[in-house]
Amino acid sequence: MLKHKFIQPLFFILALAFWLIPHNSLAFPLAYVFLLLCYLLISVYGSYFIQANYFTDQIHHGDRSNKKIALTFDDGPQAGFTSQVLDILREKKVPALFFLIGQNIKGNEVDLQRMNAEGHIVGNHSYSHNYWFSLKRTDNMLADIKLCDAEIERVIGRRPKLFRPPYGVTNPMVSGAVKRGNYTGIGWSLRSYDTSAKDGDLLLNKILANIKNGDVILLHEWGKHTIAILPDLIDKSRKLGFEFVRADELLGVEAYY
Ligand SMILES: [Zn+2]
Repeated sequence: MLKHKFIQPLFFILALAFWLIPHNSLAFPLAYVFLLLCYLLISVYGSYFIQANYFTDQIHHGDRSNKKIALTFDDGPQAGFTSQVLDILREKKVPALFFLIGQNIKGNEVDLQRMNAEGHIVGNHSYSHNYWFSLKRTDNMLADIKLCDAEIERVIGRRPKLFRPPYGVTNPMVSGAVKRGNYTGIGWSLRSYDTSAKDGDLLLNKILANIKNGDVILLHEWGKHTIAILPDLIDKSRKLGFEFVRADELLGVEAYY
């Protein structure tokens, strides 16, 4: 598997080796342009495809040999949305993992208290969830993540161990922050794209058609059709033989310190 820690020295060695190409030949500059392009392409791929584990070692799915799956919801708590998701999960008796945005917690403490009381777990999804989060220096990034920890701890008295980076973007700074903060990075294996879905039925059928054993499913409370399809998603997945378990059980990780 491609890993930044191996690719970096490999490209460095290639850059040194290319120095042997006669400097007056066209191949000399072209070789470096080619090398730079390859490096950039691999870096972009590694940043945006969290499953690649290029920069970080995230966990994306559980055991593929049995039909257990887990629901995860990002970006909450969201006023008016999270409570509806919690109602459905309570009715269907499905435990979930919520990756919370720290700045969303103030004013929505009740949702977080419900998550904790109703058997769900919560993880850290940064405080700001800023679009430029991934460009922060590791120090600043870690400070932002810790602020989210503090908000969660303020409400439920527990410090989360699980972290999912905003937008699923990873890079050396994210990797550094996860390591220094001693978090367990959690990705996903089935991205629903529920925030951009135009049609609820299509969204539901696409998820159902793609569910595999051990999947961690990524959803968002605020997705336009997410709440509408959630009861059917649960019922129809169960009809297909899948069992919903909490992500910490599926992945064999600890949710809190
Ligand atoms: Zn998010």
